[in-house]
Amino acid sequence: MDFEFATATRIVFGEGKAATLPELARGFGARALVVTGTSPERAEAMVQALAAETMAVPGEPTVELVREGAQRAKDAGCDVVLSIGGGSAIDAGKAIAAIAANGGEPLEFLEVVGQGRALSVPPLPFIAVPTTAGTGSEVTRNAVLGSAEHGVKASLRSPLMLPRVALVDPELTYALPPAITAYTGLDALTQLIEPYVSARANPLADALSIDGIRRVASALRIAYFDGTDRNARREMALASLFGGLALANAGLGVVHGFAAPLGGGWEAPHGALCAALLPHGMAANVAALRARAPQNPALERYAAIARLLTGRENASAEDGIRWVRALCAELKIPPLRAWGIGQSDLPGVVENAARASSMKANPLPLTAEELQAVLAAAW
Ligand SMILES: [Zn+2]
Repeated sequence: MDFEFATATRIVFGEGKAATLPELARGFGARALVVTGTSPERAEAMVQALAAETMAVPGEPTVELVREGAQRAKDAGCDVVLSIGGGSAIDAGKAIAAIAANGGEPLEFLEVVGQGRALSVPPLPFIAVPTTAGTGSEVTRNAVLGSAEHGVKASLRSPLMLPRVALVDPELTYALPPAITAYTGLDALTQLIEPYVSARANPLADALSIDGIRRVASALRIAYFDGTDRNARREMALASLFGGLALANAGLGVVHGFAAPLGGGWEAPHGALCAALLPHGMAANVAALRARAPQNPALERYAAIARLLTGRENASAEDGIRWVRALCAELKIPPLRAWGIGQSDLPGVVENAARASSMKANPLPLTAEELQAVLAAAW
């Protein structure tokens, strides 16, 4: 067995840690660009303390927005970039830090739709402060960007893009509304399950997945119904962090393979798409493994996931799928059609998903018919 597990991110975790941020940022330079999500007021104290440039990211980040942010950072002579927000703000800041230092057009560096050019210069130091518990983007080396021109999402990816600091303060998630808690929490669960059954699974990522799945199983429902539950919020913040570390080192699978073209083509939160797809992606993989690859270790791993989720020693892979399906119903996860995706759009999505980078790590290749069935079930 051989594997690599890389992280160069200093992780600072704990309730109240956000208060240390101005000092932390000053350690990287005098001039900061602060990238926020849809609630920039949350970062106001920070912006004042740092006398920083600011930029709000209204939706999921695009090539155009990154181009503008990188120019802003250069014009203002920024020497550090901070993102305070959900996955969109963090991915935007991560990409801005990379393009500000490297120059050039973001599209040149983008996978799949762009030229996938490698970064030649390390990005500006980047500090990620998540305010949701789900994406794990604070510890990953890619930024997912939309391109209006191409109608898909693709990654800007480089080992150099790992954030310098991930500051995870669970208190920042207390005010998240239930729907966002559900979407992001199920994204976290997906990002723990997919690396664990991935073709690139490895023992270090496994340990994080197993621990994280257990935490989601005990905490997500509680965080949804009572957002002020400190323990549940802490458990979800940890689970999200572990999912980020796991996916960055073991890859993802069919659910994220679909989330890329769906997120690129329609305005839907990434987590909501993953949540709608998760039980069906699991079911398709388990059925395909039983039919074509019963010796593949991923099959037993789906049963292990079921034991972690249900807490029952005799749980089968199918019990795990049922558990996830019931959780999605309880947390009111809308089907894909709720986001304006039409039935006639599905065949095109299957074609694009087959090319997505996440699909390569799925435990086994799924046929076009199987992919179509996952999408139809989630629709
Ligand atoms: Zn995800």
